[in-house]
Amino acid sequence: MDTKNLSAIQKKLEDERTDLEERLAQFSRRNPKNTEDFNANFPEIGDKEDENAAEVDTYSTNLTLERTLESALRDVQSALRRIAAGTYGVCKYCTKEIDPKRLLARPVSSACIDCKKRLTQEA
Ligand SMILES: [Zn+2]
Repeated sequence: MDTKNLSAIQKKLEDERTDLEERLAQFSRRNPKNTEDFNANFPEIGDKEDENAAEVDTYSTNLTLERTLESALRDVQSALRRIAAGTYGVCKYCTKEIDPKRLLARPVSSACIDCKKRLTQEA
């Protein structure tokens, strides 16, 4: 992969990381011991029965969203670590280079199309 594509991808990943962290910060707190772990806050709406029910509802929605965003953030951070380590763009299964077009479209990819297809078919 050439440097120009790589730096474009890095920029994309960094923007995505900022975006995901901002969205997570709106309703959850980062685990101080593990920066990839977030915990959804329990909302304080009120003490009435319907307010308690609303709190549980909001909490469960936030929990689902937190898991989705957290897993996306983990993928982004792992891709950024691969860039820093110089192993970015290599398929984790067959160690061949991943098509740069695929990486530009989906920068968190860690497997080539062939391996991805093979794994999806087996699954
Ligand atoms: Zn592969």
